[in-house]
Amino acid sequence: MKSRIIFSDFDGTFSEKDVGHRIYTHFSGGENLKYVKMWGQGLISTRESLTREAALLSVSEDEIYQFLDQFKLRDGASELYTFAKKSNIPFYILSDGSDIYIKYILKKYQLEEIKYYTNKATIENNRYIIEFPYDNGDCTRCGCCKGARINEIIGENKNSWEIIFIGDGLSDICALDSADIIFARGDLLEYCHSKNIKACEYTDFFDILNWLKTSE
Ligand SMILES: [Mg+2]
Ligand SMILES: [Zn+2]
Repeated sequence: MKSRIIFSDFDGTFSEKDVGHRIYTHFSGGENLKYVKMWGQGLISTRESLTREAALLSVSEDEIYQFLDQFKLRDGASELYTFAKKSNIPFYILSDGSDIYIKYILKKYQLEEIKYYTNKATIENNRYIIEFPYDNGDCTRCGCCKGARINEIIGENKNSWEIIFIGDGLSDICALDSADIIFARGDLLEYCHSKNIKACEYTDFFDILNWLKTSE
């Protein structure tokens, strides 16, 4: 029998809103949107878009943290993680956002033990500096490639796992090939429909929790 393992995107998935996007938009006064548009059209990579967006910001650490206090996890996110933990289902967050806000928000919900892989952001003299510590193999699209991370984490024995992926956006595309079960909403759901990729639509994480409980 296969063991389940869950990988979840953060922005717009585990977290209700796209926190990274809102940081860049808020603190650049919308100057970043031209890069987001180019990224959406596939003209620039995530790495290039994030580097350009980050370079627009002038912000202190305190201002960032104050801004972060408005954000909430998606309904059921905490409950799903707790259920996975109790059931010995490994749970990882994979994100093309950055650690500065993921760490802060998880801590606010006492979920700082959740393992996450993402890009690294630091603030130095009000500059928002983003780095990409992960090697993405062949992928030139992503900053922190979710497909590469999944393959790395599950290692050789792919067939012993039932891989569940939860996402909402175009930064999740590289994960789709590795996933056995896809939960999608937003742009990711549209993408799956357009490519005839089977995906289950979800509204909140209680939908996924119900599925986990009823499909054991
Ligand atoms: Mg997302
Ligand atoms: Zn990728």
